[in-house]
Amino acid sequence: TGGNADDSNDSNVDTTDEVESEDNDTSSGDINVGIVLPTRDEPRWVQDEQRFKDALADSEYTTEILFSQGSSANELQNVETLISRGIDVLIISPHDGDAAGAAAQAAANEGVTVIAYDRLITNTDAVDYYVTFDSFAVGAAQGNYLIEHANGTNIPLYLYAGAASDNNAFLFFEGAWSVLQPKIADGTFVVANSSEAEALADKPELTRDEMGRILGQVTTNWDPNEAINKAQTHLTAAGDDLKGEVLILAPNDGTSRSIADTFATDSDITSYVITGQDAEKASIQYIIDGKQSMTVFKDVRQLVKDAMGMAITLLDGATPDTTGSYDNGSKEVPAMQSEVIVVDQANVQSVLIDSGYYEASEFTGLD
Ligand code: BGC
Repeated sequence: TGGNADDSNDSNVDTTDEVESEDNDTSSGDINVGIVLPTRDEPRWVQDEQRFKDALADSEYTTEILFSQGSSANELQNVETLISRGIDVLIISPHDGDAAGAAAQAAANEGVTVIAYDRLITNTDAVDYYVTFDSFAVGAAQGNYLIEHANGTNIPLYLYAGAASDNNAFLFFEGAWSVLQPKIADGTFVVANSSEAEALADKPELTRDEMGRILGQVTTNWDPNEAINKAQTHLTAAGDDLKGEVLILAPNDGTSRSIADTFATDSDITSYVITGQDAEKASIQYIIDGKQSMTVFKDVRQLVKDAMGMAITLLDGATPDTTGSYDNGSKEVPAMQSEVIVVDQANVQSVLIDSGYYEASEFTGLD
């Protein structure tokens, strides 16, 4: 992410959005629920902001949404600002899962209940709940899509992953590995860009440390530009046996589009199948145009509903429902999890347009 410290601070202030209610009894300036999102630089999180605003339009509770712009320091400052505004519940998607422990602790110290949103806050006791999609299933769906759309044996497989500071990057990779590993072990697929993954080809389940070694070679850091650089480097290093018809595990839509563009310019790549996730509008257009193969749709409306439902239950003094738990390294965090849907050319109309998630007019070439 670009920008100097001043830019980040400005965007901190500029991106403050407040939904004030008419009939609340909190004193002026007080808010009930603080929401902290990681960055405005990715459409994924701007989408979450919009879905929060839609859901809160008629709410009797006051909320404020702040963005951390890819900085743990901004994030801590945002949380401190919200604490000073009197929040009782903090909904936070951390930029860096470990580093956010300090912000969570600051909130907990003031008696604020902390809900981790989409990304888990790790290695701290100061997180009370976790609202998430099934991230392991996201990775498994990506891996299965590659398997179902591959022909032959010895097919080159390029692996990419998210930022190691994001616990989800491990869950996505773990899910993908759970289905891809047998195909690597039996020679159907050949890992093209990770010696660490090749060395672990016979292990169905990887430790976090082992995954960390693979991520060290194939991380995009969730940054489309870093993804382009890595893809270029990998394509330059690859021999003819690793070109032709290839498979690409791309962790999300932002990195998928940039990796796809990079592979498309290599004349020795005759075709590629590439994954994604988030159903970002730009990637839906890529799917319609045949430039990205699939995405994993995570219905942010549901996540927002779950998170706000939980917050309101807490404000009412009750205990929210949960469906399971996640080990964050320090505790089992009670969690509410929702499902994901694979989208490609075959079902994009029915899943995303007919359902009203997006308007047909936002795309070209839909019929
Ligand atoms: C989210 C993805 C997102 C990625 C990059 C992950 O934690 O689950 O939806 O694409 O972060 O922001």
